[in-house]
Amino acid sequence: MTTLPDAQLYIDGQLRGASDGGTFDVISPWTGAAIGKAADATADDVNAAIAAARRAFDQTDWATNTEKRVALVKKYRELFEAARPRLGELAINEAGAAQGAVSRAHVGMALDGWDDYMAVFDKLEWEKDYGEKPAFGMVHKRIGVREPVGVVGAITPWNVPLYVNIGKIVAALLAGCTVILKPAPDTPGMGAIFGELAKEAGFPDGVINVVFGADPALAGEMLVTDPRVDLISFTGSTGVGKRIMEQGAATLKRVFLELGGKSAKIVLDDAPNFAMEVGMAMLVFHAGQGCAVQSRLLVPRSRYEEAKAILKGAYGNFGDNWGDIENPAHIMGPVISKRQMERVKSYIDLGQQEGATLLAGGNIRPDKGGGYFVEPTCFVDVTNDMRIAQEEIFGPVLVVIPYEDDEDAVRIANQSSYGLSGGVSSGDLDRAINIAKRVRTGSMSVNNGMCIAGDIPFGGYKASGMGREWGLEGIEEFTDVKILAWPVGQAAA
Ligand code: NAD
Repeated sequence: MTTLPDAQLYIDGQLRGASDGGTFDVISPWTGAAIGKAADATADDVNAAIAAARRAFDQTDWATNTEKRVALVKKYRELFEAARPRLGELAINEAGAAQGAVSRAHVGMALDGWDDYMAVFDKLEWEKDYGEKPAFGMVHKRIGVREPVGVVGAITPWNVPLYVNIGKIVAALLAGCTVILKPAPDTPGMGAIFGELAKEAGFPDGVINVVFGADPALAGEMLVTDPRVDLISFTGSTGVGKRIMEQGAATLKRVFLELGGKSAKIVLDDAPNFAMEVGMAMLVFHAGQGCAVQSRLLVPRSRYEEAKAILKGAYGNFGDNWGDIENPAHIMGPVISKRQMERVKSYIDLGQQEGATLLAGGNIRPDKGGGYFVEPTCFVDVTNDMRIAQEEIFGPVLVVIPYEDDEDAVRIANQSSYGLSGGVSSGDLDRAINIAKRVRTGSMSVNNGMCIAGDIPFGGYKASGMGREWGLEGIEEFTDVKILAWPVGQAAA
């Protein structure tokens, strides 16, 4: 059985255990067994991390020495490259990634995203000329200067931990902020490696800190409520996101939120390869545990029976080709935890109670191992008002909803509290783009266009969050703009 190295905290340049020596078990989603130990940060540890990040921001040249920052972030990236096999092991063993998923969102896309950040960083406009304007009998020259926002608390989930950790840490560091990373209790190792490699890269003490613990809320709430932290960058559930806004209000915290989703894929009646479009909507990659997955499939009522038959065949063909940790071709493993497995199963039971028809799957599969395996599941005869169509299940459960015409498809797609992503497919590109523009969501894939990458912004509308991560916009999130103005005729320094 795999044993992961102990996950250590990283505080003020020191890799260390918790101040009281406490640890907690890291559980394998594949077996349900403990596969490692992680330090269980105390309130004192979190306090020390915040103090270190504050000091590094206020008393060193980190915020102003861009050249030094870029050189260190490049070195950090090289160390992550060398650690690629270990990152894969962590994704598999902690997050439950199947081997075939590692080179995609878990590690491959994550490191590519880092490179994209480095590339777009060059385009950041540190100084902007706002021209001259007369006022009070003089003409005034105005410029805007971009400055790092300060100390960042980065709170991240377990589903694609490397990807989300990079999305926050690399952007914050490039912008000139100092960071306290707080990964989810399920994936401390994928946080700890940011401390280990930061030490190896030689970052100044306090610039990067990593704290985690068995209690999901303790460290996060301390970051959210502490006046020494300037910005919280959070990815996780909408419920916790709302709590962060509430709790952050007392110190007027800047909050950046990437939250849940219930994105719709709309297949139009003229989609050139209808069978492929419908079949590939099967929600199996990483057991459906992705915030931007298209978990509502919208098909024309006139072709609904045809779509059902296609999906029946697709799920049948997929069969039992999932859930084997040894199989390099598998893209679906277990869900993260017993709690998540029970939650997903309760939604499957709910769907049946609500009157939807189970077309495929629906069972927990203990025969796959001692871990948390839920079958690829598909519900048809779903109406958009059912809870299985409205609530984020975060598991391998697809719901298929019929629509009458384009108007109806847009209405159904928008009839959701969420607005993170989605897709539309048609033989007529203009028709597809027109629909994509009308769906209130942060990204839309048109004819399977890749709408998520490290050099373009990503984020949500409505209950899916606020602000943007990735791309130049993702780096700018960690900055503020200061305006300077002086009467013309006086030379600038
Ligand atoms: P979660 O909200 O339970 O936890 C996310 C993080 O917040 C964890 O680190 C957790 O320990 C911490 N946390 C929990 N309670 C807290 C509190 N009161 N104060 C501060 N921090 C707290 O989410 P999860 O179960 O880890 O992840 C799944 C959710 O994340 C899904 O809803 C999914 O849609 C969402 N997600 C969104 C995106 C995106 O980019 N929009 C990406 C990945 C995951």
